[in-house]
This record gives sequence, structure tokens and C-alpha cells, in this order.
Amino acid sequence: MGGMNMGLNRASGIAALAAGGSWDLVIIGGGATGLGTALDAAARGYRTLLLEGHDFAKGTSSRATKLVHGGVRYLAQGNIPLVRHALHERGRLLANAPQVTRRQGFVVPCYRWWDMAFYGAGLLAYDLLAGKLGLGRSRLLSRKEVMRRLPTVKTSGLVGGIHYYDGQFDDSRLAITIAASAADHGATLLNYVRVMGLLKTDGRIAGVTARDMETGTDYSIQAKAVVNAAGIFMDDIRHMDRPDLAEGLSLSQGIHIVLDPSFLASDDAILIPKTADGRVLFVLPWLGRTVLGTTDTPIETASMEPRAQEEEIQFLLDHAAEYLTRAPARSDVLSVFTGIRPLVKVKGASGTSAVPRDHVLMVSDSGLVTITGGKWTTYREMAEQTVDTAANVGHLPSKPSPTRDLRLHGWAARDSAATDPLAAYGADAPKVRAVLAEQPGWASPMHPDLPYALGEAAYAARHLMARTVEDVLSRRTRALLLNAAAAVAAAPAVAGVLAAELGRDAAWVDAQVTEFTELAGVYRV
Ligand SMILES: Cc1cc2nc3c(=O)[nH]c(=O)nc-3n(C[C@H](O)[C@H](O)[C@H](O)COP(=O)(O)OP(=O)(O)OC[C@H]3O[C@@H](n4cnc5c(N)ncnc54)[C@H](O)[C@@H]3O)c2cc1C
Repeated sequence: MGGMNMGLNRASGIAALAAGGSWDLVIIGGGATGLGTALDAAARGYRTLLLEGHDFAKGTSSRATKLVHGGVRYLAQGNIPLVRHALHERGRLLANAPQVTRRQGFVVPCYRWWDMAFYGAGLLAYDLLAGKLGLGRSRLLSRKEVMRRLPTVKTSGLVGGIHYYDGQFDDSRLAITIAASAADHGATLLNYVRVMGLLKTDGRIAGVTARDMETGTDYSIQAKAVVNAAGIFMDDIRHMDRPDLAEGLSLSQGIHIVLDPSFLASDDAILIPKTADGRVLFVLPWLGRTVLGTTDTPIETASMEPRAQEEEIQFLLDHAAEYLTRAPARSDVLSVFTGIRPLVKVKGASGTSAVPRDHVLMVSDSGLVTITGGKWTTYREMAEQTVDTAANVGHLPSKPSPTRDLRLHGWAARDSAATDPLAAYGADAPKVRAVLAEQPGWASPMHPDLPYALGEAAYAARHLMARTVEDVLSRRTRALLLNAAAAVAAAPAVAGVLAAELGRDAAWVDAQVTEFTELAGVYRV
């Protein structure tokens, strides 16, 4: 394809829908799972279409704890195969997308000698399971070394600790990077196109009906195989296939609190493997902030903008106060973000923590392929298995997956010492810089408290399919997560840039600012 493809271009995608024709695969949902599936399918050479009803990664995939990990807590539960697979995928992801991922050091502070032995042995097993895809050796730390590495951790009763490595990433930026990679390989991807129903021929799934949410235009789309990657909304799609099916998911939400970096004041993250009430707590450095997470709260209904509960916020602040020398107050909270876990129901399991977070791949009698569960870290492996299954269901010529070692769009080795604010664009950074030079003011920060230039909004509209102020401030940049108040303050300027890029009028600008300000209320406490 090389220079011939259009990249992420919404107008050409809509034109392809209007032209009709048949696809090998249609994928419903543009989160980690759907985007990964689109990339895997397109890289094999299948004619691939992905439809996302809102924006790419609007759902759970922009709301993760930002860890590329094997899951230290699953190790404690003895789920060895799950951990080994995830560790291998962790290594691949860091190698294939260094521009949006990085190695992260963690310290487990120990307040009992027994914990040193227990977690030390566990993390040795973690190293062994990672094999040659490991990120570096785990090792024991003296009390003094823990205090040096974690200047803000409580020292009373501290006996020592363990240092280990995992990965960290920018989840929505990885999602956009996977989308761009899929487009590079010839896939068509569209945001703001919602699947409304399924087409059937003789009882077999033969495509989807979908609506362009910007214009209201409906499309009938033929496909040899249809993949349901709608995340927490997967039952809605399954019900389009069979209205009588029982709900297949239970839901649990997790919240994160974003604070000033001084609360951690370290390049290392903290893992508290077991709080007094048996929870895991992370204190992480992320994009120049400190992130606290997470909770595990069963909830009833799936929603696009889940809200942190009062008790969850209090839980995180209380526990941070227990382990940090300076207790964060409510007024210190810069942003709160919440994600919903899609947990596949397991008969007899009690409480959501007991449900294994592994993925489930199902094929209905009519041929609908549904993929759900798993985690961001294992998106590629899930995608490979999904495309194998979909190719089989759709009688496509069998082709092996090339994604294990496939470098993602903009791949660029990362110099860990460098602090280029455009590093996440990888090899595209010079292109971004050229856009920033186009207009006076575009190279300046969109807000003094945000690490993003105003002109990034123009680049996002032209090359990353950003359509709204929220797309730019929440997922092309992470302004909303880093500082919700600053993001609101930046909204009018960003709306102005977008209006010029997308040909919108003053009324659109006003509506966008109002809408974003309302949305940002969910992230402010
Ligand atoms: C609190 C929390 C923390 C987590 N932390 C981590 C972590 O640190 N590391 C890790 O590896 N994993 C983590 N995970 C797990 C990971 O985030 C998820 O496994 C992953 O994001 C799920 O992606 P998905 O594509 O399946 O779902 P989603 O991201 O929810 O995507 C589904 C998409 O389908 C779209 N959709 C729905 N209906 C339709 C329709 N009718 N038409 C078109 N589109 C539709 C939605 O708009 C949505 O964008 C975490 C999860 C949670 C909840």
C-alpha cells in the first residue's frame, strides 16, 4: 500500500460505505479488541471494515490503569498460564510500539518480613515466566533503598521491598496508533458510525446495518464475517442476533485519581499488593502526574461515561493517606476517570474479583463472532484468535497472522532520557512539528498546565480522525485526564481550531464547548 493509502480519513471511509460492495470482515467496536482485530485482519490481506459508534477508545480502552502487565495479582491467585501469556504479549507490545509504551519500575514496600519472602518469590516467578521477553530482573531492596527510591512512602514499620519491572502505556494513543496501522494495511475504519442491526441470509449473518451519527445516513453493509467487539455493550449486539439470549456479562467499575507528581516524587511506581481490606493499590507516575488506582465495584448498567462513586474516591484517598507521608485531599484531585470491566459470567462465582479476567470467544448459531474480556495487554493475541475464527466462519482463504512482530504505525525507538513532548507520535513527530509551525500560536501550549500544543488539534483533525473537542482533549491528547479544569479552559481555543479544519460554524463551536464542559464535570470532584 505504502504511500497510496489515505491513512485515517473519514470522508474516504464514508465514500467506501456509500459505494457498497462486500467486505471480508466487518468489526463492530473500535476499542482495543476491535482495533486489534482490524489490524490483524488487514495485515493478512482481508478486506476489512471497522465501525465505531462513538470515537475510537471512547469505552473501556481509554480508561485503563495504563499498565502493560502480566498481572502480579493473578500470579498470587495461581493463574500461571494467564500470567505467562500476558507477559509474552507485554514484551511484544513494548517492542512493536515503543513510541506509546515504556518500561516502568515498581517498588513493593514491605512492612513484614514474611511479605519480602512471599512477594520476592512471586516476582522471581514473574521474571521466569517472562523468559527472554523479560524487561529486567526483580530484586530485593533494603529499607534504606526503598526510602531512597520512594521519598514519599510511609517508613514506620518498613522492613524493605522488592523492585520489579512492568510496562506502562498511553491507552487511547495506542488505540489511535493501532487504528492508523490498520489503515496503513488497507483497512477502512470509521468513528461515529453505529451498528444498528444485523443482516441475515437464510439464517446466517450476512452483514450489518449502520448509521453515520454525523449525518443520520443509514447504510446496508455486506460481509462474509461479522465480529462483535462491542466491549461492555456486547450483549446489545448479541441481542440483535438473538433477542432471547440471557445477558452474558457482569460489570464492575474501577476509578483512578490523578494528582500532582509531588505525591509520588519518584520515577518508580508503588504497588501495594494487599491493603488491610485485601485490595491492590497502585501509585503510578504517568505523563508527569501521579495516578492512584483502582477500585472494583460491581455495577448494574453499562454506560459510556461512568461516574466515580463517592465511596470509591474516599477509598482511594484514605488508602493513599495510609501509605504516603502526605495525604492527598479532595482539593488535590486534578481529574477522576472511571472504566467498566466486562466480566464474562462464570456460573457459581461469587463477587466480581473471583471471575478470571481471561477472554472469551464465541460463535453463535448464525455465525456472529463475539470476542470479549481479556485486557489491553493481550489485545494482539485476542485479535489473532478472533481473526482465525472469523476467517473460518466466513470461509475466507486461510492466512497466518503476521502481527507478533509487526511494528505499529510511527514506530520509533524511544530514547528514555529524552523528554520530547511529541514522542508519542513516534516517526510522525516532524510532520506534527510542521503543522505547529503553520499558524502563530499553534506551537504554544493549549493551556499553561497542559503539555500539549494548540496546533495538535489541527493535526488530530487532519490525520487522526478527531471530530470533536472531546476527541482532541480526551483521547488524541490526555488533557481531560491530566487536569480536567485546564481542559475546560482550553476547550474554546481547541473548538476554534477544529471548526476551521472541519468547516464548522460559530454555533458548532458554542455547542462543542458547552458539551465538553458538561462532560468534564464527570472528571471533576
Ligand atoms: C478500571 C480498569 C482498569 C484497567 N486497567 C488495565 C491495565 O492497566 N492494563 C490492561 O492491560 N488492561 C486493563 N484493563 C482492561 C482493558 O482496558 C480492557 O480489557 C480493554 O480496554 C477492552 O477493550 P474492548 O475493545 O474489548 O472494549 P471497549 O474499549 O469498551 O470497546 C468497545 C467499543 O464498542 C463500541 N460500540 C458499542 N456498541 C456499538 C455499536 N452498536 N456500533 C459500533 N460500535 C459500538 C463502543 O463505543 C466502544 O468504543 C482495565 C479495565 C478497567 C475497567
